Amino acid sequence: MKPTTASLDRLRTLPRAEVHVHLEGCFEAEMLAQWAGRFGEPLPRPLERLFEFEGLADFLHFLDWACGLVRTREELAESAYGFSQRLAASGTGHADLIFNPTHWRHWHGRLPAMVDALDAGFRAAEQDGLPPVGLCVSLLRTQSADAAAELVDELVRQRHPRVVALSIDGNEAAAGRTGPRFAEAFRRAGAAGLKRTVHAGESSGPEGVRDAIELLGADRIDHGVRAVEDPAVVRLLVDRQIPLGICPSSNLTLGVCASMDEHPIERLRLAGVPVSVNTDDPALLGTSLEREYALCAEAFGWSDTVLREVARTSIDASFANEDVKASLRASLARW
Ligand SMILES: [Zn+2]
Repeated sequence: MKPTTASLDRLRTLPRAEVHVHLEGCFEAEMLAQWAGRFGEPLPRPLERLFEFEGLADFLHFLDWACGLVRTREELAESAYGFSQRLAASGTGHADLIFNPTHWRHWHGRLPAMVDALDAGFRAAEQDGLPPVGLCVSLLRTQSADAAAELVDELVRQRHPRVVALSIDGNEAAAGRTGPRFAEAFRRAGAAGLKRTVHAGESSGPEGVRDAIELLGADRIDHGVRAVEDPAVVRLLVDRQIPLGICPSSNLTLGVCASMDEHPIERLRLAGVPVSVNTDDPALLGTSLEREYALCAEAFGWSDTVLREVARTSIDASFANEDVKASLRASLARW
């Protein structure tokens, strides 16, 4: 299904935040080809098929390749600035942006420098009137407890104002149940004042969502859609009002669900779970935030009241500062 230009134009004006999007998923194919050419690196596939993936494992492997092309502070700042431009083009008022240091091989062991470089790009963007961005620094599910402790030490030591949260992502189907392994790192991050966001209920089932809440103290869950398979986990999300950052196209592309009609976002929303709509990896998936809203509105017949409610959840669920949230809520009230 292809949303109409008119519906996309209108949804672009809906004041909202994006809370589940990865820096690694925002590279443009042409930019990657240009960076690869600079270093004489072959593309893993021809340019026109660069973003055609064979499942989650192939997808994660590709991220490592793409991030491996970024070597300098300027290139990192450029990718941050480019992300803010993408937000503005979608009419998005704020984003919590996930980035995972493990993918960036030229930056291993240099997390503070990496955060500084990204911050420089975001500061330049804000000075140019582009939307504000908070960083969620992510662990990978296959890392060790020691590596997780080291990352949290680094974040607490640097206490960079750009960093708002500790995150964890990666393939839970391959890594197995890892909640207990990361519990201590998440506890310490929370104690140090960082928010906590956890990928679960995508490559893991509802038990992954329960672990995210009970073991990792998640303030928010990325995906979480497979919670729908267990009514007790749905109840837990409702009781604690833990928001899910849902990415419909991502779920369709990676085979988490078969069609938009069957997508669990509507059942979860109607059950009382706070849900927001997000892109996950917009460049790689060929989507935009307004398109994700349009897909839901079309599949479930969302009225303006529902669109406003979901947009409101995205603002409330974000880790933006209170001024940004208040201004977005005021714009939303006028929409
Ligand atoms: Zn994600």
